[in-house]
Parts: sequence; C-alpha cells; structure tokens
Amino acid sequence: FFRWKMRVVLAAARTSAQRLGTRRAFGGLASQQNIDGLSNDLLISLSMNHNNDGRTQAELVANLARNNLLKSDFLIETMTSVDRLHFLLPDQEGMYEDKPRNIGSNATITSPHMHAIALQALFGDGDIPMGSLALDIGCGSGYLTVCMASILAERDGVAYGIDHARDLVQSSRRNAERSHPYLVKADALHFFQGDGFLGLEEKAPFRYIHVGAAVEDIPTALIDQLAPDGRLLIPVGPEGSDQDLLCIKKDTQGNTTKEKIMSVVFSRMHIEPPDTEEAKRIQLEEKVKQLYNEAESLTKEIRNWQAKFKEEHSSRP
Ligand code: SAH
Repeated sequence: FFRWKMRVVLAAARTSAQRLGTRRAFGGLASQQNIDGLSNDLLISLSMNHNNDGRTQAELVANLARNNLLKSDFLIETMTSVDRLHFLLPDQEGMYEDKPRNIGSNATITSPHMHAIALQALFGDGDIPMGSLALDIGCGSGYLTVCMASILAERDGVAYGIDHARDLVQSSRRNAERSHPYLVKADALHFFQGDGFLGLEEKAPFRYIHVGAAVEDIPTALIDQLAPDGRLLIPVGPEGSDQDLLCIKKDTQGNTTKEKIMSVVFSRMHIEPPDTEEAKRIQLEEKVKQLYNEAESLTKEIRNWQAKFKEEHSSRP
C-alpha cells in the first residue's frame, strides 16, 4: 500500500511539474526557481499529508514542529517570533504557506521548511557559546539572519548577512528594522553587500555560516573563516538538479568533516551581481556622460565651421 501511495504521489507531482511548465518532469519540478530548496525526498514527505501551511506564523511554525522539521523548543520560539509578514513584498497572498515567494531582484525568500531545517542543522544541538558570530550568505529577505541574531543576541553574539544584490541588502535592513528593531539597535545584526564566494573576512571567524545559494565547489574562503568547532551549511552541486545540503564541521585542530543533511535544489550563487537598480543607475550615468561628451564635440565642430565660414565669406553664417 505504501509503495502504491508513493507511486500516486510521484505521479501527482509529475503532473503538477508539467502543469508548471518545467523542462524535465520530476527533476524539473524541483529545478523551478520559485521552489528552491525543495528536494525530491522532502517533496514526497510533504505530499504525504505533511502540509506545513498555516494561517498565521504561529500556526505555520506549529506545523513545522509537528512534522518534525523543527525539534528544539528555542528554535520553535525563534521562528514564531520572526513573522514572515515583515519579509515579503506587500500584498502577498498565502504569506504563511510553506513556499518560497518572490522578493524582487530575481530572488525568493526560501520556503519556511528550509529555514527550519537550516536552523535545526546549525543550532539544534543547543551548544551555542557566548559571543558567537554567524554569517548568512545570500541573506535575501534577511529572514534567516534575523533568526540567527535573535538566537545569538541573548548570548552577546552577532549575526551578519551579506548579499550580492544591493537592493536586497537594503530590503534585509528594512525588514529587520520592522521585525526586530531592538536587535538592530543593540548591534546584534548587520547587513553588507558582499560576494558570498569571499565570505566576510573582516568579521571572521564565524561559529555558524549559512549559504543560501548553491555552489559547485565549497569556497575555501568559507572554510578558512570557520571558527574552531564551527559549522558551515551549504548546498553543493550543479545548478538545476539535486544538490547535497552539506554540514561541514571544523574541529579544534582545524580538521573538517562533512555530513549530508539531505538533497535540495537551490538557485546558484552568482559570479556577477544581478542587474539591480543601482547597476541601472550607474549605466544611466555612464550614458549621460557619453551624451554630454558627444554634445561637447558637436558644439566644437559647429564653432569651427562658423569660424571657417566667417573667414571665407567675411560675414557670419
Ligand atoms: N535565504 C534568503 C534568500 C535566498 S535566495 C531568504 O530566505 O530570504 C539566494 C540569494 O543569494 C539571493 O538573494 C541572491 O541575491 C544571493 N546571491 C546570489 N549570488 C550571490 C553571491 N555571489 N554572493 C552573495 N549573495 C548571492
């Protein structure tokens, strides 16, 4: 019966994948950018009556806990207090559905079950030393950075969020101000524009590093920036197919071990920053400069022609 039910679930998933217009039936379902982080195995478990959707943040988190995605009480409290409402674009439908949502600049806020799995993998053992630092790479909406800061602030720790897209760094800041102004005032979280491949060397070492976009190879800078006893959660694998969500742990001697948490499909970490508003402004400024130079050289040409005309005809043109 179980196998039969699994087949039915897979067939239904395939049909919805085709309806979504994906390139490859089942694998393609997960490769849709707007459902990043949803792995095949998780898709199956979610399909089997494990619906995490809620009508409120508290209901959503209670469902994540009921379905064993959030196991520690303090993480349940954290996610309940960080309301998705503050991290989505205005007027979004289904705010508390367990789905990614567009946040602009070609990015999505990750689905709540992936936030839960990330928090559980990083902080679940409850071993959080005083003054710990965390880095959230590809912070996007800022949701996970705020969760990290609210866990660490109680222990005098700080969370840093970085994103390639300047617009998203600004939205992260604005969202954090709306959701947890006291954390911002207490300097328990900061956002910077930065390249995830390089990490944030000036604030390293970090006890916790979370990477919200997939890489083909683990950047060595991130291993270097991991503190002794630190952990790095990172999706590793090619774009558009299953990647491994790896938890890399560094021991006190600096040796690392890898553990696969699950299969996931995240959008990839970009080499170049996206075409943000800032990039558009710079492009427009360049164009204005170029037109100004052209206008200047045309003016010179006209003056020269006028001077020549005056010389030849002894009168003004
Ligand atoms: N975890 C976030 C969003 C994840 S989407 C949330 O839940 O809100 C992936 C993010 O990675 C996007 O915001 C994208 O801008 C960012 N990103 C992509 N390439 C990057 C890079 N090289 N450096 C930093 N951030 C990057």
